[in-house]
Amino acid sequence: MKLRSYVAGGWIEGDGAGVVLRDATTGAPVAEATSAGIDFAAVLGYAHRVGGPPLRALTFHERAARLKALGRKLGEFKDEFYALSYHTGATKADSWIDIDGGIGTMLVFASKGSRELPNSHVYVDGGVEALSRGGTFVGQHVCVPLEGAAVHINAFNFPVWGMLEKLAPTLLAGVPAIVKPATATAYLTERVVARIIESGILPEGALQLVCGGLGDLFDHLTCQDAVSFTGSAATAERLRTHPRVVRESVRFLAETDSLNSSILAPDVAPGMPEFDLYVREVVREMTAKAGQKCTAIRKALVPRAQLDAVVDALTTALAGVTIGDPRLEGVRMGPLASVEQLAEVRGRIGELRRETRLACGEEAVQPLGADVAGGAFMRPTLLVRDEPRRAQAVHAVEAFGPVATVMPFQDVAEAIALARRGAGSLVASVFSADDAVAAELVLGLAPFHGRIVVVNRHSARESTGHGSPLAHLIHGGPGRAGGGEEMGGIRGVLHYMQRVAVQGTPDVIAAVSRRWVRGGTLRDPGRHPFRIPFGELVLGDTYRSGERMVTVDDIERFATLSGDTFYAHMSETEAARNPLFGGRVAHGYFLISAAAGLFVDPDYGPVLGNYGLDGLRFVKPVKPGDRIKVRLTCKEKSLRADKGWGEVAWDTEITNQDGETVASYDVLTMVSVHAVPDAAGT
Ligand code: NDP
Repeated sequence: MKLRSYVAGGWIEGDGAGVVLRDATTGAPVAEATSAGIDFAAVLGYAHRVGGPPLRALTFHERAARLKALGRKLGEFKDEFYALSYHTGATKADSWIDIDGGIGTMLVFASKGSRELPNSHVYVDGGVEALSRGGTFVGQHVCVPLEGAAVHINAFNFPVWGMLEKLAPTLLAGVPAIVKPATATAYLTERVVARIIESGILPEGALQLVCGGLGDLFDHLTCQDAVSFTGSAATAERLRTHPRVVRESVRFLAETDSLNSSILAPDVAPGMPEFDLYVREVVREMTAKAGQKCTAIRKALVPRAQLDAVVDALTTALAGVTIGDPRLEGVRMGPLASVEQLAEVRGRIGELRRETRLACGEEAVQPLGADVAGGAFMRPTLLVRDEPRRAQAVHAVEAFGPVATVMPFQDVAEAIALARRGAGSLVASVFSADDAVAAELVLGLAPFHGRIVVVNRHSARESTGHGSPLAHLIHGGPGRAGGGEEMGGIRGVLHYMQRVAVQGTPDVIAAVSRRWVRGGTLRDPGRHPFRIPFGELVLGDTYRSGERMVTVDDIERFATLSGDTFYAHMSETEAARNPLFGGRVAHGYFLISAAAGLFVDPDYGPVLGNYGLDGLRFVKPVKPGDRIKVRLTCKEKSLRADKGWGEVAWDTEITNQDGETVASYDVLTMVSVHAVPDAAGT
């Protein structure tokens, strides 16, 4: 099978013979790959001209809906993907991380996109900044999609997840992608891309695939393109210093080697649940994907008093790991991805061995159901460094396989110092039954890590584990880990957008951001805004209520009804002693209830419900005898196209008889697209 690339609207095979890709278990050829002959300037140009515009024309919600459809569609082909995945050496459990993990990540982005982004094209970042005394000149940050392409360069170890975790936020941002999988396992990525393309769910040009090298593509990058890279630090360094990347300030996100630590806290001893959880996690991290995970535990840091107990427990557990053909039930660990990778890992173990002793891993491997000569099999290898402070390699050499080093520490400070010797890592984990010790470790590790997971007996059952990056949380790390940050929910989308600070009048900012801004024009729609269906509401449409006096009787009746008899509402003398009030005041919740009474239009109509308040602040106390009134202004609209209604946020301000603001908030409502909706949504 010669792998094809999907570029400029068609599938093409590269010219000539390609690199032969082999089954990790048998060594039998699986595919050949080459990208020779591809016009890379044309590939980039195609993304710019053909892929970008239709993606940018979609709203965030429309893009999220495509991701959801895509995730579901890919779910239909899982059996096919799993079958191919065995060639990479992955067991079924390993493939689950890659395939189901990848699809799940895409679905999380779909869900976050529809819930946390507006149904429009511009992302409003933070609040309005007041820049002038009179309020005629304000500032607002907004984010818009880059108008180039995202070039995704992926590692061999996650041919599906590695692609989808980058693709989902990129597409959600409205940016087309050019995906270059690592050649060794590109046959699986190619099949997934084929299923994506044939689904027709994405606009043409939104996704291109290059199987093989990227040719001279980097020579054509512009400031509107972004590169997201996962792989070795050496390749990252070469690519990030490419003259074109430097000259055009091309965004370059990297996720590279990482010497991740897992720390058994000093409060834990054998016999405690945290001890067993720790041992289980180190073994799992060494053997899942045969240790070929950027997040795998490489440094097991344990209290000196527990060193022997931990090494014994790990050695025993590792001896029970069944190694063999990943297709067989009962096989816990398959081969490495290729014999080249095996040779690489053996070389790295050689470097580590110069300053460590071997606890286990030297015995010859006899893989179940496979021939050791053809496959890239090795035993999990556990090393021990008794004096880690004076060591170098254990803090610098990443053996990208089932390899970890156990190191003792004296106290919490030394544990932190040893973990930080990784010079920037993707993840660290802490196993502790003492929350104060855990917190001390977390804060000590934090400046050098992208993610920290704390596990104890209470969270263990539900913990997602040391090695699993999640779509909701950032994945990346400082220093050696590449300095990048992927995913993290909507944060990951913003990597593919340009943040711009816009300054102008409130009305200009509202026109750009599609969010009405205080100080902007207040429109009189000529009828109560609650009578206006979603589509006819205009930002700035305003209702101004009549006045209501707040009385002692109001306060006492509200206290009786709610049960809130706090002294500041009930006792003139005690309230007078309170430095904030100087006398009896109305309940804040009475004010917002009374405000609703002032602004609602009670008859049946397009407003379907109130689902909350945002940004509520009680600014000034209201005393008996004060007169309040309300202004309600249509601030933001987001249509739920498939539901027949949209969300409308109303900027709401309660003022007193002197025109002073006493409370300020956004009322959040669901408004029908119909003037008189019915249960059928018509
Ligand atoms: P590489 O850095 O060699 O490759 C990573 C990706 O970069 C691959 O897609 C590769 O493509 C591509 N690439 C390599 N050179 C270029 C170039 N000049 N221009 C454009 N793309 C390029 O890493 P490997 O996958 O070979 O793994 C080597 C080591 O990296 C591992 O042993 C491990 O230490 C580390 N690693 C770290 C990972 C992490 O997530 N932190 C993940 C995987 C590996 P091609 O395959 O075609 O060469």
